[in-house]
Amino acid sequence: MDSYASKPVRTGRVEPDSPFQSMTRPVYLDNNATTPVDPRVVEAMLPYLRDEFGNASSASHAYGWAADEAVELARERIAQLIHCAPNALVFTSGATEGINFAIKGIAAARHTSGKHIAITATEHRAVLDTCRRMRKDGFEVSTIPVENDGLVRPETVAAALRDDTILVAVIWANNETGVLQSIAEISGMVRDRGIALLSDATQAIGKIPVRADLADLVVGSAHKMYGPKGTGILYINPDMKGPKPMPLIEGGGQEHGLRGGTLNTPGIAGMGMAAEIAMSEMSRDADRLQRLRDELERVILSGCKDAAVNGNREHRLPQTTNIRFPGAPAADLLSELRDVALSAGSACSSGSGKPSHVLKAMGLSDTQAASSIRIGLGRFTTEQDVNFAAERIVQAVRDVRERQSVLQR
Ligand code: PLP
Repeated sequence: MDSYASKPVRTGRVEPDSPFQSMTRPVYLDNNATTPVDPRVVEAMLPYLRDEFGNASSASHAYGWAADEAVELARERIAQLIHCAPNALVFTSGATEGINFAIKGIAAARHTSGKHIAITATEHRAVLDTCRRMRKDGFEVSTIPVENDGLVRPETVAAALRDDTILVAVIWANNETGVLQSIAEISGMVRDRGIALLSDATQAIGKIPVRADLADLVVGSAHKMYGPKGTGILYINPDMKGPKPMPLIEGGGQEHGLRGGTLNTPGIAGMGMAAEIAMSEMSRDADRLQRLRDELERVILSGCKDAAVNGNREHRLPQTTNIRFPGAPAADLLSELRDVALSAGSACSSGSGKPSHVLKAMGLSDTQAASSIRIGLGRFTTEQDVNFAAERIVQAVRDVRERQSVLQR
């Protein structure tokens, strides 16, 4: 089946004179919020929504066996993608659950040896909010600062470690800037001390090579890699020093007692297929999207005076950019850009109206952070989409700045 011939979402220009105008969708450049489901993934899921509806835990008949087979195939495919043993993976409902499981589970398992957790300043809200809960429960959570380019220095991580530290969280790829932390450099210094290293690789898995065994706990989510929403994984390194996380959800004994509840067979089969596709297409996608992203940046930066990329431009995801436009508030830009789907930051915070904590941690002022937009390309983004978006963004920045200067006169 040719996925490129049958794009899962219609993207395109709003043609003012078109009789189909009301049916035209904006060009989708918000792939860090969620990716469209690859049609091959949909095909892989359908049997488990139809005839193969069995419960993967039903060991006494063919319906259950078929579901279980699908789950185990998916587990193998995902394990292959992130270089780990299949039985080190626990299926979850997504990255937020995986993060809750990892942090609360380690806290429950290790609270007698320490109550200190250290997290980088640019973690996803799922980590921040879980840690807020941990503070209320008597844990001390310290924030590891990042440099102005969004990278955390391994020495800064080392300086945050204490004798009572039980967990360190370092995000693999940032969802707003795409900045990639050097997990390989940080790994040994944390793990050798018996401190659990959690890495949220939600934005990295399926887009760049990820070696899960560099960390103790790694989180991923199907809907960021062209799979369905509501399915994810927590990798638990079998070689981690110290007690493993206690289960967050109990009941039914599924996943070796680590995560109760009937397995979401269609979602898991979909995530497995998404991993299989990523294995063969990830590197080609990354090359193509990096070229498109770089061209998009070139046109935007040359067309918009004083615009600048937020974050390290070398160590980042190939398909992400985050650009600030002094004098053009992001909220105004987004309402001007009705024909391009973008965001000012993470989807979870997009309604909050607060400047991004990620950009502020990188030293941006409130005003700079509130004048920044995130652009996330994806497998189904075309050159035409990018050319159209670049033109529209440059025009929108000019229009918004013009309006701002009239208001200030
Ligand atoms: N972590 C990161 C880096 C993310 O980008 C997201 C999604 O926005 C999450 C965690 C939460 O993922 P999920 O939607 O699977 O709970």
